[in-house]
Amino acid sequence: MNHQYDVVIVGAGLAGLRAAIELGEDTRVAVLSKVFATRSHSGAAQGGIGAALGNEEEDRWEWHMFDTVKGSDYLGDQDAIEILARDAPRAIYELEHLGVPFNRNSQGKIAQRAFGGHTRNYGEAPVKRACYAADRTGRVILDTLWEKCQQRGIAFYDEFQILSLITSDGQCCGLVAYELATGALHTFHCKAVLLATGGAGRIYKTTSNAYASTGDGLVVAYRGGAALEDMEFVQFHPTGIYKLGILISEAARGEGGILRNKDGQRFMEHYAPVIKDLAPRDMVCRCMLEELKAGRGIDGRDYLHLDLTHLGKDVLNSKLAEITSLARTYAGVDPVEEPIPVLPTCHYMMGGISTNTDGQVLTDDKNIPFAGLYAAGECACVSVHGSNRLGCNALLELLVYGRRSGIAMRRFIHSVGFAGLPEKPEADTADRIARLMENSGIERADHVRADMQKLMMDKVSVFRRKEGLLEAKENIAELKERYKNIGIKYQGRSYNSELQDAIDLGNMLQVAELIILCALHREESRGAHYREDFPGRDDGKWLVHSLIRDSGDGPHLFTKPVTITQHQPKERKY
Ligand SMILES: Cc1cc2nc3c(=O)[nH]c(=O)nc-3n(C[C@H](O)[C@H](O)[C@H](O)COP(=O)(O)OP(=O)(O)OC[C@H]3O[C@@H](n4cnc5c(N)ncnc54)[C@H](O)[C@@H]3O)c2cc1C
Repeated sequence: MNHQYDVVIVGAGLAGLRAAIELGEDTRVAVLSKVFATRSHSGAAQGGIGAALGNEEEDRWEWHMFDTVKGSDYLGDQDAIEILARDAPRAIYELEHLGVPFNRNSQGKIAQRAFGGHTRNYGEAPVKRACYAADRTGRVILDTLWEKCQQRGIAFYDEFQILSLITSDGQCCGLVAYELATGALHTFHCKAVLLATGGAGRIYKTTSNAYASTGDGLVVAYRGGAALEDMEFVQFHPTGIYKLGILISEAARGEGGILRNKDGQRFMEHYAPVIKDLAPRDMVCRCMLEELKAGRGIDGRDYLHLDLTHLGKDVLNSKLAEITSLARTYAGVDPVEEPIPVLPTCHYMMGGISTNTDGQVLTDDKNIPFAGLYAAGECACVSVHGSNRLGCNALLELLVYGRRSGIAMRRFIHSVGFAGLPEKPEADTADRIARLMENSGIERADHVRADMQKLMMDKVSVFRRKEGLLEAKENIAELKERYKNIGIKYQGRSYNSELQDAIDLGNMLQVAELIILCALHREESRGAHYREDFPGRDDGKWLVHSLIRDSGDGPHLFTKPVTITQHQPKERKY
């Protein structure tokens, strides 16, 4: 089936929807999503969205910029971070005007709370910068933007999964998608494509991410010739519910929650004397694992406690209701009475499809754009987070850069006509699906997936070293061989979850391999990438972005400089 639009947006999270709203009124736009739009992972965001509004205490965008640069361990591009911090207040007021029901303070202004790594006056003390709607911030923003898209008549294709891009003369002119309900392939012909497909946390055994976060957009872009940037930087969040990885938002510590070891000690006091439990996530995760290594896990086991008991019932029920309920349901503890057992959980991909500050996808280290292809949100790397993202900066990035991509695409589509589609643009994709369906191999996708998730957790998570990464590289190659032998028993076309599992797994194996290659390449420790065999940060050699591209005969790794405008790299102390 063929469709034609000016712009096709893949992904109905906040990045995709914000871009759609920018274009909606006079442009023919379609939004594709492999899950029903409002089930996108953005709806699970809990704690807040950052902006220096100064509603609770003095704050400035310059401080927000500095914190983000420092939090990124100086790998973030400072031009992109400046745009983020400066534009943040506008982005929040825009949401307010669209109808997002933020919490209010006693003066009736948007309420704000503390979050990790956000400080006053260049690191003096924590500052209240996160705007929030209880601990359902993503949910209320997603629902509001979705409603606006409906009002603007934007076409939604829910449960459509992108499988490949269509290019003609080096320009992206459409894509091929698979309709889950019927098994039909659809061709979308357009002038511009925006990839806004979110993260890839499902490649790890323990993760806070939704089932749809399998890195599809990264793989589609990589196979299409785009460069991926800084893939080695994978964020673990300190407080996942023990064994399950379900997130307990950093807002819990923003409201005063405390991490404790088996002796009841507030151990973060020793590691980060100024901001304690509100140190950035990469540091807190490493400190937690150090505590466990030193035998200070609760009852000698491999978890720690997040203590919220002193916050009181009212705060928990009004400002942290969601996580209170998650703790009751999934950990079987009532946070009003008892501490929550927690352990770091895979949370966020700092790396992604390399883009400039207009969301244009880049193909190399010379910043040459891929005509017609854009990316925004977690799947993109405009590099505002560098090697470690600060809490509440992701939602902000989705809105600021989703909008900028929308503006840039509008400019672009008015300057070009529709490129001609190649003959049978879906033929290769149809062959790929047919090969998967006809394979009578004895492997099962869920077994290969479980082995991949364990491997990534054991060898490519918070602490890494060369031997483990080399083993991981070999193991991924073995898993890719096993993948070729996956047989699909159910031959129905409607909601064939076996087929979908196999497609998702193919993407996850590819993302996992690229993370391992980049992690092996970077022989230093920076942000979330900690190499036990290279424990120091090495600005002389490694103050560069990693880029990886498909060279035709495998992945090709290279680097490009970091954009530094105001803040020269310094030692990161909190
Ligand atoms: C539990 C949790 C809590 C969080 N809390 C916060 C917070 O408080 N503050 C903050 O700043 N950040 C938070 N984050 C991070 C932030 O929510 C995410 O980074 C962000 O929501 C990603 O948004 P996105 O628009 O890029 O994509 P997502 O919201 O992940 O949406 C991805 C979209 O792409 C679609 N898609 C994927 N693959 C395909 C495909 N092959 N074909 C078609 N469609 C596809 C999906 O259907 C979906 O619509 C949190 C993350 C998690 C997991």
